[in-house]
Amino acid sequence: MPVPLFSLTDQHAALREELRATFDRVLDSGRYILGPEVDSLEAECAAYLGCKHAIAVSSGTDALVLALMALGIGPGDEVLVPSFTFFASAGSVARLGATPVFVDSCPRCFNIDPADAARRITPRTKAIMPVHLFGQAADMDALQALARQHNLSIIEDAAQAFGASYRQHKLGTLGHFGCFSFFPTKNLGALGDAGLLTTNDSALAHRARILRVHGMEPKYHHHLIGANFRIDALQAALLRVKLPHLDSWAAARQRNAQLYHQHLTPALPQPTPPTCSPTCACRDPLPSPAILLPQPLPNRDHIWNQFTIRVTPQGQRDSLKAHLDRLHIGSEIYYPIPLHKQPCFAPLHPHSAPPLPNATLLSQQVLSLPIFPELSPTQIEEVANAVKEWVNK
Ligand SMILES: *Cc1c(COP(=O)(O)O)cnc(C)c1O
Repeated sequence: MPVPLFSLTDQHAALREELRATFDRVLDSGRYILGPEVDSLEAECAAYLGCKHAIAVSSGTDALVLALMALGIGPGDEVLVPSFTFFASAGSVARLGATPVFVDSCPRCFNIDPADAARRITPRTKAIMPVHLFGQAADMDALQALARQHNLSIIEDAAQAFGASYRQHKLGTLGHFGCFSFFPTKNLGALGDAGLLTTNDSALAHRARILRVHGMEPKYHHHLIGANFRIDALQAALLRVKLPHLDSWAAARQRNAQLYHQHLTPALPQPTPPTCSPTCACRDPLPSPAILLPQPLPNRDHIWNQFTIRVTPQGQRDSLKAHLDRLHIGSEIYYPIPLHKQPCFAPLHPHSAPPLPNATLLSQQVLSLPIFPELSPTQIEEVANAVKEWVNK
């Protein structure tokens, strides 16, 4: 039986009547951009995440741009960004005329390597952007220490991590800003583009709110140059229907991840238990050939936006993907090209791209398997069996 990588069909079928009633409510309200639905979404998100300010915006990408703008980051400034992430993390920096400085990642947890970040700090470094990739926190203790030491702002790209936490604190509330995406495939997805910016700093929140509407305050008076980062009332209202279900969906993703571990662990050679800190043994060689299952680390509640395995040795990942494709089992490579090797960033390093060995390795070895909440245990077993079949071939 085919298993899709991702589907919203069942999730939306269960909520169909409520979503339709919500659409009618917004239709009848006559308020289609910002307004009371957006105010309510912001209050509900702030309460859920445990932060002072939540500012709903047009997309996750715009949340990143708005955070950088509110911090006054622009030409001449450098921002430390992992190379192994989605384009928007670094694209938002470059769009403001600042320079993304690419940092290597930890090959066990896939997140920015604090020790490599430290090596790349210069007098121009203004901020660091940890990306909580695939739904698991970056090493925030190490990053916060680094930020304090060098007076850097922290912008958390929590686009894949709404609801995940680090030492009991929800991600997106630990830095100066947290940036979330409500793209439909994220853990909390709208029915279109939407995003959220969070902060505990009231002055920064005030600036961000003004910048969201062209830097306007009061009406038609502009002391700042902002842009249109507004969210539709419809998306806010639909998200309010989905937010109360988030924890049960997260529990289902968690169950799916556990099932993968149960089915696959006995069949695979396992590495030593991972740790991740500046002194972490991340660079231990993996047994080879091997599939490495994603490891939930202590003190971090993984929200499983993706279940991403590593396939070694080199070249074997594409063979496993082809095997799954033949069986109509969805899988995807997030991300096949690290950002420091993207052609658009070539002008940043005119001589040659910096060697970021782990980012390069990950882009060649990662494969994400279906994990969405509505998958049945039988479907997870089917995917696991297909992986085992390939391992034993
Ligand atoms: C999805 C995503 C974004 C961008 O969010 P959009 O809502 O699509 O603009 C940014 N960073 C990461 C890591 C993402 O996964």
